[in-house]
Amino acid sequence: ALTAGIVGLPNVGKSTLFNAITQAGAESANYPFCTIDPNVGIVEVPDYRLQKLTELVQPKKTVPTAFEFTDIAGIVKGASQGEGLGNKFLSHIRQVDAICQVVRCFSDDNITHVSGKVDPLDDIEVINLELILADLESVDKRIDRVGKLAKQKDKEAVIEHEVLVMIKEALEADKPARAVEFTEEQLKVVKGLHLLTAKPMLYVANVSEDEISDAANNEYVQIVREYAAKENAEVIVICAKIEEEIAELEGEEKEMFLSELGIEESGLDQLIRASYHLLGLATYFTAGVQEVRAWTFRKGMKAPQCAGIIHTDFERGFIRAEIVSYEDLLAAGSHSAAKEVGKVRLEGKEYIVQDGDVIHFRFNV
Ligand code: GDP
Repeated sequence: ALTAGIVGLPNVGKSTLFNAITQAGAESANYPFCTIDPNVGIVEVPDYRLQKLTELVQPKKTVPTAFEFTDIAGIVKGASQGEGLGNKFLSHIRQVDAICQVVRCFSDDNITHVSGKVDPLDDIEVINLELILADLESVDKRIDRVGKLAKQKDKEAVIEHEVLVMIKEALEADKPARAVEFTEEQLKVVKGLHLLTAKPMLYVANVSEDEISDAANNEYVQIVREYAAKENAEVIVICAKIEEEIAELEGEEKEMFLSELGIEESGLDQLIRASYHLLGLATYFTAGVQEVRAWTFRKGMKAPQCAGIIHTDFERGFIRAEIVSYEDLLAAGSHSAAKEVGKVRLEGKEYIVQDGDVIHFRFNV
């Protein structure tokens, strides 16, 4: 399963946020494909469409989809040189598919800041520099090896060498590999390199309790936003401490608490949705009277692969998929009404599933 890793310097609020994640956490019994590990938190993906489909179909049960956050402890300055948990930390980051970087934007004299003062820009640069240095080391090693093959005009090696040189230049200018523009062909090579700075990054600005309702005017948050804008990264503002409290509430209680705070959606829910998109994930639905359920797939997956997410037999015996988009189904009011107006399509093996598709798979057993 794809996972988003939570990183950040010590004392920025990572554990507090991760607590909120596991508190709010999904029943792992519903999600047998998820990892059971103390450093992994399974979260349900909030999706208003699931609610609407439930009202429409009135099923016996409704199951949201879920994905994983991984808590990655222990980055400090010098990690790429093996300081602190150093290499272990970097190898954990290597295994995640996207990075959520928690940045301290709250002042609290009782909580020490590792470098003495709250300075989000410096914090971000410390972490990003460690990732850049680690990548630079891998790229240099690889250039040595591939360079020789490239000289012998090995076609693949020539492309890889080209890519490595582009990345090296970026890294040496303190830019992450994800900031480099590649062609489709080059992008495939980049993926194979498993670089840390090629992973998509999201910044999580952790503000204090009394500033969450007025986060737009928080100067630390503005600094993070400016930095993130330069690399086209998204920023989510949360107060980890409050998220811990919200995570213990449900339904109406949760809504009341949120409205008291003057926020529409919890920071955690925003973070979950942003991370989901960052991972390149999307949702399709199955909607029967027994169960209305959301399923996660990777954008670009075809119908048989998506069927395989439910059960491998569905993929093996795939015949066709009967599909109606969520919007069309809702507009029609029922599945049969959607059929009457020609909105239910039969799609074959090559169909690329779209976010919001409501699907009934037909298969041989
Ligand atoms: P980590 O080292 O990054 O995992 O940081 P922790 O989650 O352990 O947080 C460090 C300290 O900061 C703890 O005492 C938290 O209670 C506190 N903290 C975390 N988030 C907030 C916040 O939003 N506001 C305030 N005031 N304190 C926070």
